[in-house]
Amino acid sequence: MNNIIPNFLKHRAFLTPKRKALLFDNKEWSFSELYKEVEVYAKKIASLGVKRKDSVALLLANRPHTVIIIHALQQLGITTVFLNHRLTASEMVFQLKDSQTALVIGEKDLENKLAEIHDIYPTLVIKTVEEVKKQKEENYPIVNEYLMDDVCSIMYTSGTTGNPKGVLQTYGNHWWSAIGSALNLGLGEDDGWLCAVPLFHISGLSILMRSVIYGMPVYLYEQFNEKIINERLQSGSVTIMSVVSTMLYRLLENLKENRYHERFRCMLLGGGPAPKSLLEACLEKNIPVFQSYGMTETSSQIVTLSPEDSLLKIGSAGKPLFPSQLKIMLDGKQLAANQPGEIVVKGPNITIGYLNRMVANREHFKNGWFFTGDIGYVDEEGYLFVLDRRSDLIISGGENIYPAEIEDVLLSHPNVVEAGITGIDHSLWGQVPIGFVVCKQFIEEAELITYCQERLAKYKIPSKIYFVNELPRNASNKLLRRKLIELIPKG
Ligand code: ATP
Ligand code: MG
Repeated sequence: MNNIIPNFLKHRAFLTPKRKALLFDNKEWSFSELYKEVEVYAKKIASLGVKRKDSVALLLANRPHTVIIIHALQQLGITTVFLNHRLTASEMVFQLKDSQTALVIGEKDLENKLAEIHDIYPTLVIKTVEEVKKQKEENYPIVNEYLMDDVCSIMYTSGTTGNPKGVLQTYGNHWWSAIGSALNLGLGEDDGWLCAVPLFHISGLSILMRSVIYGMPVYLYEQFNEKIINERLQSGSVTIMSVVSTMLYRLLENLKENRYHERFRCMLLGGGPAPKSLLEACLEKNIPVFQSYGMTETSSQIVTLSPEDSLLKIGSAGKPLFPSQLKIMLDGKQLAANQPGEIVVKGPNITIGYLNRMVANREHFKNGWFFTGDIGYVDEEGYLFVLDRRSDLIISGGENIYPAEIEDVLLSHPNVVEAGITGIDHSLWGQVPIGFVVCKQFIEEAELITYCQERLAKYKIPSKIYFVNELPRNASNKLLRRKLIELIPKG
């Protein structure tokens, strides 16, 4: 019986109906207004023949109807599959078939993508939001209570290590993720969370889940416009914002000599490693950055560094959130401080598993712990330092080389815009690192090599640096290191 929790939005609309729930452009919704619209949509979606435990996929932008439809599906007990817009139609079809999706609801602006999906998978039912709106309303059995173990959402990993895997996120995962975050960041009466990260990604969805669990407004943005967002952060209405490092760079550049409002209390930075230069620039401007580590499988951040520690522990992702635990393992043994190994985590926010992936499930879940596939170490005080993905590790003459460390050095050069490192086979050393860079202006390879020599141990110096126009990235804009090798000129 202790596995049951009230329907989040319905309960929230009952508890604090008048509180602000959602703001977009100059429109706003209270929780009771939001719930009324959600009920209407739920009835319209029910008329399309989908029912409890079915999967419905969304190909939607960061717009209010997306928030409403996500909640509507939860009212029906339907599992939501989130599609990343930047995937190709065939990549989407892989996810749609893998998740046995019964219906896709898509944005009218993405009509071409929807048509391509239809061409590959003609039997699938596809509706635009406009078509859903035209449906008649059908009464449906509302889900009054959520079972913590019921799957709320399926979100595919970004696919840096191979095909994306469908991560099953339960209501309990979202609940504990929200609670862990609140215990760490605290919860203020006047909190408001700015969401300019995609709702189809866990960074965005987790803001919506926190909103209904906390009774807190979401300031939703469809586009990331640094000027508009900086104005909002200076106004005092928003207290927390989730960002990835590229967003933070753009905000900082636009902010110039200005400062954020004193009520702004948290820039939650996630998604990947944070270059030290960026953290230092934020410190200088008094921007409270909470660096974090997490993944689709942990339903958002699982490890976070508070700003008071950020000077002392620069480069660290912090300590686990209260409901979670962390250890570093190698060859079945837990490692002591400062020794690099696989980051292994445990907690009620962690996925119950990957959909249809027996082998991956066996590899990643052992004795209640989740093996992340990332390498890192903890210092004597338990602060986590993420080094890199295990699959990207380069072993050269018995030494471990973490591509991220060399990329950081290259990126700190004023002329380098993007950098990627991978290993190539070498007769003497086994493997050696080689680099790929995108530069602002022409620069000699020798100059970059010297720059690395001044900052890195000899075995980490790239044996060759290629100048390219762009680096291979996936739909989440993450660097695909395994594809760098294809950029080497033939012959
Ligand atoms: P796939 O698992 O399919 O290869 P993915 O791991 O990129 O895709 P996500 O769940 O979106 O999919 O990304 C989570 C990963 O991002 C983490 O496992 C880690 O490798 C990286 N990451 C997240 N936070 C940090 C951080 N603070 N420092 C370094 N890397 C991070
Ligand atoms: Mg992953």
